[in-house]
Amino acid sequence: MRVAIAGAGLAGLSCAKYLCDAGHVPIVLEARDVLGGKVAAWQDEDGDWYETGLHIFFGAYRNMRQLFAELNIEDRLQWKSHSMIFNQKEVPGTYSRFDFPDLPAPLNGLAAILGNNDMLTWPEKIAFGIGLVPAILRGQSYVEECDQYSWSEWLALHNIPERVNDEVFLAMSKALNFINPDEISSTVVLTALNRFLQETDGSQMAFLDGNPPERLCQPIVDYVRAHGGEVHLDSPLREIQLAEDGSVSGFRIGGIKGKEPQEIQADAYVSAMPVDPLKLLLPEPWKALPYFSKLDGLVGVPVINIHLWFDRKLTEIDHLLFSRSDLLSVYADMSNTCREYEDPNKSMLELVFAPAKDWIGRSDAEIVAATLEELKRLFPQHFSGDDQAQLLKSKVVKTPQSVYKTVPGCQQLRPDQASPIPNFFLAGCFTMQRYLASMEGAVLSGKQCAEAIAQSPMAQPGAASPASLAAV
Ligand SMILES: Cc1cc2nc3c(=O)[nH]c(=O)nc-3n(C[C@H](O)[C@H](O)[C@H](O)COP(=O)(O)OP(=O)(O)OC[C@H]3O[C@@H](n4cnc5c(N)ncnc54)[C@H](O)[C@@H]3O)c2cc1C
Repeated sequence: MRVAIAGAGLAGLSCAKYLCDAGHVPIVLEARDVLGGKVAAWQDEDGDWYETGLHIFFGAYRNMRQLFAELNIEDRLQWKSHSMIFNQKEVPGTYSRFDFPDLPAPLNGLAAILGNNDMLTWPEKIAFGIGLVPAILRGQSYVEECDQYSWSEWLALHNIPERVNDEVFLAMSKALNFINPDEISSTVVLTALNRFLQETDGSQMAFLDGNPPERLCQPIVDYVRAHGGEVHLDSPLREIQLAEDGSVSGFRIGGIKGKEPQEIQADAYVSAMPVDPLKLLLPEPWKALPYFSKLDGLVGVPVINIHLWFDRKLTEIDHLLFSRSDLLSVYADMSNTCREYEDPNKSMLELVFAPAKDWIGRSDAEIVAATLEELKRLFPQHFSGDDQAQLLKSKVVKTPQSVYKTVPGCQQLRPDQASPIPNFFLAGCFTMQRYLASMEGAVLSGKQCAEAIAQSPMAQPGAASPASLAAV
């Protein structure tokens, strides 16, 4: 079957890859001139890369790791020590670590938590441990039920002191969905904790060894093309065209950069676009269907990714850092963590600025100035005295609507990959899969979408479809 896919983020590319494996022919149509969607990156005039987001891969990302293995690029994941490192609020420039020893789960996680006495007191650890018992015993069904509560509400329900939130979960909530614990659904935090506690390497982190479009997306494109599929940039979907029976008859693709507009016919059609542009392109007759009308409740959350190049090394830490700052979420010195960005003499900090709703409309200069103020606390030794670190250049990437905002009640709004329209399917990290809004979620959604297409009635032997008949 020919399958037209709108969107070359990780979901669209993974869908195309697994369709190829099932013997189908994907045609991927990407609106922009760069692969990757939310993992897209660009080079500045000096050849330095800047990215949509600082991206971390977890040991728990089984589907992503399988994809790396299938593409034979596993060596591109640079695994770090099995630790989580938080900036200490009270003592600027110092860190508090959760180190996971070489023990099976959940012992390594428990040892990491029990071994850290900087952030949580023993009574707090015990209260939190007791609160987690239902999640451990009842697993995912309990985790899903908790979607009615924000994380702050969940902690209050379990009599866990507010300080636990301030010490650990403010940072974790911002890292998971760029929002604070009073907004994030407790399902999201419990899902992450469950993976981290149940899988021995679940919380171990890796960085990609270079820019994601070339180091991760391009190998998927090469694979797809080698298997007879197509990937086209600068090809925005403008209209989902309908046949008289309400099924999709074609994708109308806009003509940009001198390209002719075109209509693509296929046997099956996939939207692998984010939820916000998808909603704008839904055909009028579909909008009343609950499957599509529910999407109104899913909205992309704003986030800002900042890159700061300095004249010297600010740190030697080769890991992700949780800033525990009001303005910032996680950050890393990419000159240490990522082979392609390596520099033995100068730091390049990549920092996620979140929550970003009050900042997304502000100028880059204001955002960089506010970030530099935060760096005085994170690196006091380099931003005080006579010989202070000098900022050489900066780059700010704003994403006003990034991954869907995982507020309470969202789980029931997330659609399956198979829609009520027989030849129309969805992929994207907002669609239902067990990894929420993440790269792993995007890859898994693409895989599940390819499976849904392969299992659909039109893919069964003997089933005829308009596009295959036209091709005969
Ligand atoms: C700042 C930031 C940090 C992040 N950090 C992490 C992390 O550390 N770990 C992690 O796992 N995840 C992280 N994520 C989340 C992760 O990037 C996303 O969950 C994932 O990449 C989403 O993939 P997707 O394919 O579902 O959507 P997208 O990547 O958004 O892809 C959708 C594609 O559709 C295209 N498109 C839109 N409209 C059209 C149209 N009309 N026609 C054709 N194409 C169209 C877009 O251009 C895009 O390429 C982060 C995200 C951000 C923004």
